[in-house]
Amino acid sequence: MSFLKEDKEIYEALLGEERRQKEGLELIPSENYVSAAVLEANGSVFTNKYSEGYPGKRYYGGQDFTDIVETVAIERAKKLFGCKYANVQPHSGAPANLAVYAALLEPGDTVLGMDLSHGGHLTHGHPMTLPAKIYKFVTYKMKDPDTGEIDYEGLRQMAIEHKPKIILAGFSAYPRSLDYTKFVEIAKEVGAITVADMAHIAGLIAGKALPNPFDAGFDIITTTTHKTLRGPRGGMILTRESEEIAKKIDKSIFPGIQGGPHMHTIAAKAVAFGEAMTPAYKEYCQQVLKNAKAMEEVLRREGVRMIGGGTDNHLILADVYGSLGVTGKEAQTVLDEVGITLNMNSIAEDTRKPLDPSGIRFGTPAITTRGFLEADCARVAELMIETLRNKDDEAKKAEIKKEIVSMAESHPIPEKFV
Ligand SMILES: *Cc1c(COP(=O)(O)O)cnc(C)c1O
Repeated sequence: MSFLKEDKEIYEALLGEERRQKEGLELIPSENYVSAAVLEANGSVFTNKYSEGYPGKRYYGGQDFTDIVETVAIERAKKLFGCKYANVQPHSGAPANLAVYAALLEPGDTVLGMDLSHGGHLTHGHPMTLPAKIYKFVTYKMKDPDTGEIDYEGLRQMAIEHKPKIILAGFSAYPRSLDYTKFVEIAKEVGAITVADMAHIAGLIAGKALPNPFDAGFDIITTTTHKTLRGPRGGMILTRESEEIAKKIDKSIFPGIQGGPHMHTIAAKAVAFGEAMTPAYKEYCQQVLKNAKAMEEVLRREGVRMIGGGTDNHLILADVYGSLGVTGKEAQTVLDEVGITLNMNSIAEDTRKPLDPSGIRFGTPAITTRGFLEADCARVAELMIETLRNKDDEAKKAEIKKEIVSMAESHPIPEKFV
């Protein structure tokens, strides 16, 4: 039964989006499919409720059930990531980062983060963002884009020179693992707080497939909940052990930058965290990595340059302009035509402009949720390269599209994961 049917415009757009998600292959590494249980919680009556404050300390009455939901979400988050404090109220990743800056910095203070063109995120100091207008951002880079290793000595020199209050680790277009211990050592040397923005890989950390920055002594993790973590669109801030920091962060979220929490989203976060505690989720995370490796092998065999030389996580950044003479934008468009969704992306030291860069970024979280295994992913990578090599051959593209649609059809989006 659908009540939405009565609103034709929105109902039809919804059906269209459902069809699009079913028929195409989603390779955008920040996207995923949630379970029917997460969707149900996200679409629930909790959206009707105001609950400004925190469990046990609300401004409005009627909080019996919101308190249960938020407390469960907090407890599950703490257990998943091994920390003492969790704030599950951030509406998304960007406000989570803003809240951490606002909690720990005075205007004009300095943050040392990963350079945007080397894989960092807009919220790590892009000039167009509010944080960049309030705080000073300085950056470190990779030592060599072909190995992906961070220039830790350069990072240390920047830290000594600029005395940042926060050293930020984390990325949205970086395929390698970070040496978290080095970050912590450098931060200790200059008295900085360490923040890991794990938006992309939080799920892989929760599923124990990638190292946890808290194990190396990081102070704070910020994250989204809708990427590899496979929850609703939202954010979260975790504090390893400092009560002082956790209290500042709570105040910074509310009343600092947000009003009432979105309790329907928090309910859905709790459900997703519950799913992430299962053995099935751990297996999913391992498969995400194996699938990315399978794609990496095909690109290497076909001579396509990868930034960082390959991948340790769920994503690959390929220099399609340098390797195949196709720009990132052209690649995005032509792959869209055959039913593969991914995004163009600047690469380190890109000679092209951000709106038509040299690279494409793609990853395995969403197709792994659909049950793709290594052989399927290798085939997808082959089809991608074939498409780019034959971008003007309509007959060839039609043939490829047929194969893509049939792969999608044989891997339906699951409703239940556990
Ligand atoms: C996705 C992402 C964000 C922002 O998340 P939104 O939910 O889009 O606001 C922040 N940091 C990193 C590293 C990300 O990948």
